[in-house]
Amino acid sequence: MSASSPPPTHVIRPTRVEVSLGQIAANLAAIRAHVGPARVMAILKANAYGHGLMPVARHLVAHGVEALGAAFLEEGIHLREAGITVPILVLGSLAGEQIPRFLEHDLTLTASSVEKLQWIEQAAEAARKRATVHLKIDTGMERVGIHYYHADRLLEASLRCRHVDVTGIYSHFAQADAADLGSAQEQLERFLTVLDFYERRSLPMPVRHIANSGGILQLPASHLDLVRPGILLYGYYPSAECRRTFSVRPALSWRSQVCYFKVVPAGTAVGYGGTWTSDRPARLVTVPVGYGDGYFRALSHRAHVLIRGRRYPVVGRISMDQLVVNIGWDTAYNGDVVTLIGQDGEENLTADELADWAGTISYEVLTNINTRVPRLFVN
Ligand SMILES: *Cc1c(COP(=O)(O)O)cnc(C)c1O
Repeated sequence: MSASSPPPTHVIRPTRVEVSLGQIAANLAAIRAHVGPARVMAILKANAYGHGLMPVARHLVAHGVEALGAAFLEEGIHLREAGITVPILVLGSLAGEQIPRFLEHDLTLTASSVEKLQWIEQAAEAARKRATVHLKIDTGMERVGIHYYHADRLLEASLRCRHVDVTGIYSHFAQADAADLGSAQEQLERFLTVLDFYERRSLPMPVRHIANSGGILQLPASHLDLVRPGILLYGYYPSAECRRTFSVRPALSWRSQVCYFKVVPAGTAVGYGGTWTSDRPARLVTVPVGYGDGYFRALSHRAHVLIRGRRYPVVGRISMDQLVVNIGWDTAYNGDVVTLIGQDGEENLTADELADWAGTISYEVLTNINTRVPRLFVN
C-alpha cells in the first residue's frame, strides 16, 4: 500500500456512537400517545442532538412524523437535498440574503418581526414564488420573536402579504421543564391571548405550537395543534426536576476500546500536568477517545467508564485523543469494549451523569460528540 492511499473503508475507529433508530421511533410513539391528537414536529437541530441528522430524519419521516424543525437554513437544505419532503421549519433567526434559498428549497421561514416579514414578502414577489411562513411570538423567552404585547402588528402585517402563506404561529417556553410551572403558564396565556386575533376577525387559525419537551411532559394545555420535542425523542428528560409523566429511553451509546494496558507502581503520575498519582500499584488502561471527540476535558478526575460491566474512574487529565482509566487490580485486555455512555451488563451510564460530572446538561453532552466519531445505526 502506498503511503498516500486512504485507509480501507472497513477500518473504523474503535471509538463509535451507536444509535438505536428503533428506540427513537419508540420514543416518538410514546410522545404521540401522550399528546394526540396534536401532531409532532421532530426537532433535529445540531446533527439531531448529536445522533446523526440524516438517518434520524429519514427514520422519523418513515414513522409518520408530520414536520421537522431545524435551527439553521443549511440543515434544512441538507434535508431537502436528501429527498425529505415533509414541511421543515427553520427555527433560528433569519438573515435577509438567505430568503431566496428558503424559497428555492420550499423551507418554512420564521417571521419574527414586521420588518423580516416584509423582506420575505418582497423576496417572494421578486422570485415569483409563494413563501411559507410561521410567525414567531416572544411570550417571555426574550430571544427571537415579536413581543406578545405588540404581536397584533405582525399578525396584521401578515394579512396584507400577497406572496406569503402563514401556515403556523409559535412561541417558545423558557421554563417549561421547571418544578414551578408559573412562568410557563403565563407564557401560554400570553400566547393564547395573541391568538384571539384570529377569532375576533373570524379568520382561519394557523397551526399553533409552543410545547418543547418540558411542555409536552408537564403542561398538557400547551400541546395545542403541534408539539416540538427535541431531547425527549432522544430518550432524555429536559431537567432533573421535570415530571416524568411517561417513559422514554436513551437511543445513543458511546463506546471505545482498550488500546493499551499497563501496570504502574505506587507513586506514578499520569497524564499532562501529572495531576493524578497512584497511591498503590495499579493496572491502568488507555482509551483512544478525548476532548477532541467531545468527551469534555472538564470530566477529568470525575468521570467513570464501564469495562466488562464494571465502573472505573478516569484518572489524570483527559487529553485531546486519549484518556486513562484505573481498573484497580481487575482484568482488562486490549480490544475490550469501553462504554462512555450506555449499558454494559448491569451497569448503565447516561448523558445526565456525564452532564452532572462536567457541570452541564445532557443536551450539551450529546450535541458535543464530535462528527469525527462515526455513527452506527441499529434498528
Ligand atoms: C430546541 C428547541 C425545541 C426542542 O427543545 P427540547 O427541550 O429539546 O424539547 C423546541 N422548540 C424550539 C424553538 C427549539 O429551539
